[in-house]
Amino acid sequence: METPKTALITGSTSGIGLGIAEVFAQAGYQICFNGLEKNGAEIAESIGQQFGVKTMFSPANLLQPESIQEMVQKATETLGPIDVLVNNAGVQYVAPVDEFPVEKWNLIIGVNMSAVFLCAKAVWPGMKAQNFGRIINITSAHGLRASEFKSAYVTSKHGVTGLTKVLALEGAPFNITCNAICPGYVRTPLVEGQIADQAKAHNMTEEEVVEKVMLKKQAIKNFVKVETIGKLALFLASEDAGTITGDSIPVDGGWTSQ
Ligand code: NAD
Repeated sequence: METPKTALITGSTSGIGLGIAEVFAQAGYQICFNGLEKNGAEIAESIGQQFGVKTMFSPANLLQPESIQEMVQKATETLGPIDVLVNNAGVQYVAPVDEFPVEKWNLIIGVNMSAVFLCAKAVWPGMKAQNFGRIINITSAHGLRASEFKSAYVTSKHGVTGLTKVLALEGAPFNITCNAICPGYVRTPLVEGQIADQAKAHNMTEEEVVEKVMLKKQAIKNFVKVETIGKLALFLASEDAGTITGDSIPVDGGWTSQ
């Protein structure tokens, strides 16, 4: 029997990351889950049981470089060499630039951007040694386009668009690819929070925010499905996707076509 492949997915105890983990587990991948949710260990265990794959959970806070190093080390010891890294964890805060709290700026740059570098750096020696690796960064349509009041988020995601290209170039000699998936709006806890905040800020109902603010920029007026992102990530992780690298692939209902 073929040795199962291993994926480390950050922020995989909620939203998009959890959806990606389910798709990978269903395809037979062993998964190292990560996230700040208190029930992370139970989530990892229940998905492992559901799909009959080995899983583990790391509560590593991605703002701490040494915790990232420890997570990668433990995952490698428990599950074997990491074949796929999905940098998915992310946070958001919305405010005009002159009111944007400095600590929120630092938090968003730390989780959304610096942690991507730190996680890639931590898995890199193992991927190089096995001459195979797939790094998939979940950025955003905001990695390619801007919106007002999202200074830190847009900056962090554009930063990862650039890092994705650098890792693609450096990884090429070692059969390591790096790509970004750039979703439009996906209805997850992160977006539910934004709907509520924007409703207050614009004095609108939540339905009006969805229609007039969020999905306004998408040509297709539906939220993107988590499974769509999961299945694209699964393809990018495959041998067949070996010559796709450095790309930022929108899954955004036509938003960035404009
Ligand atoms: P979510 O809030 O449901 O999940 C975010 C995950 O990141 C959680 O598991 C959380 O615990 C984890 N996380 C946050 N800070 C962390 C830290 N310091 N250390 C470890 N884990 C941490 O959000 P989501 O909507 O599923 O977003 C996932 C990714 O997709 C993010 O990078 C986000 O920017 C991106 N994205 C989301 C949307 C959307 O519409 N939901 C659109 C485009 C891009």
